[in-house]
Amino acid sequence: IFGPEAAALTALEAAARKVFKLYGVKELRIPTVELKELFIKSTGTTTDIVQKEMYSFEDAGHRLLALRPEGTPGVARAYIENNFTQAAPVQQFFYIGNMFRAERPQAGRYREFEQIGAEFLGNPAPAADAQAILLLKDIMQAFGVKNYSVKINSLGCEKCRPLYRQALIDYLSSSKDTLCETCQDRLERNPLRVLDCKIDGHRFAEGAPKMKLCPECEEHFNEVKRLLDGKIPYIVDTSLVRGLDYYTRTVFEFQAGDKSQNAIAAGGRYDSLIKSMGGADIPAVGWAMGAERTCLALGSLPAEEEVKVYVVSLEKSCNEYAFNVMQNLRADGIITEGGLFEKNLKGQMKQADRTKARFAVIIGGEETARGSAKLKDLTTGEQKDYPLDALAGAIKNIK
Ligand code: ATP
Ligand code: MG
Repeated sequence: IFGPEAAALTALEAAARKVFKLYGVKELRIPTVELKELFIKSTGTTTDIVQKEMYSFEDAGHRLLALRPEGTPGVARAYIENNFTQAAPVQQFFYIGNMFRAERPQAGRYREFEQIGAEFLGNPAPAADAQAILLLKDIMQAFGVKNYSVKINSLGCEKCRPLYRQALIDYLSSSKDTLCETCQDRLERNPLRVLDCKIDGHRFAEGAPKMKLCPECEEHFNEVKRLLDGKIPYIVDTSLVRGLDYYTRTVFEFQAGDKSQNAIAAGGRYDSLIKSMGGADIPAVGWAMGAERTCLALGSLPAEEEVKVYVVSLEKSCNEYAFNVMQNLRADGIITEGGLFEKNLKGQMKQADRTKARFAVIIGGEETARGSAKLKDLTTGEQKDYPLDALAGAIKNIK
């Protein structure tokens, strides 16, 4: 990844960091490699990630490890093992890093990709769900992505979900023979996943029984919606189920475009995850954004208008002087390239063009003797001699 694509990712990370700061979300750096068991236990055995997409291997010490396919398990482990539960249970974390999934690569779907994620731990209130969603919206806005839609749904809790699960199993069983192999297998274990199936989940979106939330979940969901109303346009989509096993109550997706890789970010509440991993009963809500997909959704990045200088030396005896000029310009905060001193003037000027420098600073024997530098404006072709100590000031003053 290089050029404008790399610049877009960097700009997205910068926008995200700025907004995280506003929300008081702190960085957590999580390991790239974890015990495979961690993902089996947290991401869940009925997910595509664990069933098909994980890169796992045995190390020399016969430990079964995996390249992280997502960030939440690492965050949850860090939270439990560093004993936040006792000391400071309410935490807001973000992470930025590459994830790994064995998938068929295509536009917006890679085997190594970047996620920016946020996790709010220890707050069961609908305000946490709403803040998580608005945080994501503010990052999109700060980065400049405009054309996306937001879908939300509630998956209920362990009180209301079993009834829905059963209704779904009953409904889907009649079509069992027509389901893909994976879905036939997960029909009993996790019927919600059938609705999320890339192959034919959409067939059931219309006809599937609807979730009937218990009064507490209903109230929670209503409050989330009330907090979002007027701040972000969203669609309640009852067929939105999300691929991971650990979600409870609110789930959401930010979508752009109409391809199957249209989810630019996704998340939800996972109130039982920390406990199921051996921690305390800590509620949580979070999301992960696909950085490459978000950059694709932006379209083109506005070109940065930066003044840049390219330093050229005409003779071997001037090289050191020219070299020092470069370092001095940088010390004055001016973006400076150069040093291709083995090439002749033409070759160095060609490189100046390629770097899209606005100015060339040309150093020859006369300049070296006088303690000056020749400044050439590459857009107008004008050139003028400046004493060294006036050079940086002159560059900054020319519009
Ligand atoms: P999808 O349904 O597209 O496979 P997912 O449900 O597997 O996505 P999550 O696990 O929720 O995705 O990951 C959050 C975000 O990470 C996605 O919304 C997407 O933007 C991004 N993402 C997931 N997998 C990939 C990938 N293989 N390449 C690039 N980005 C990805
Ligand atoms: Mg996936």
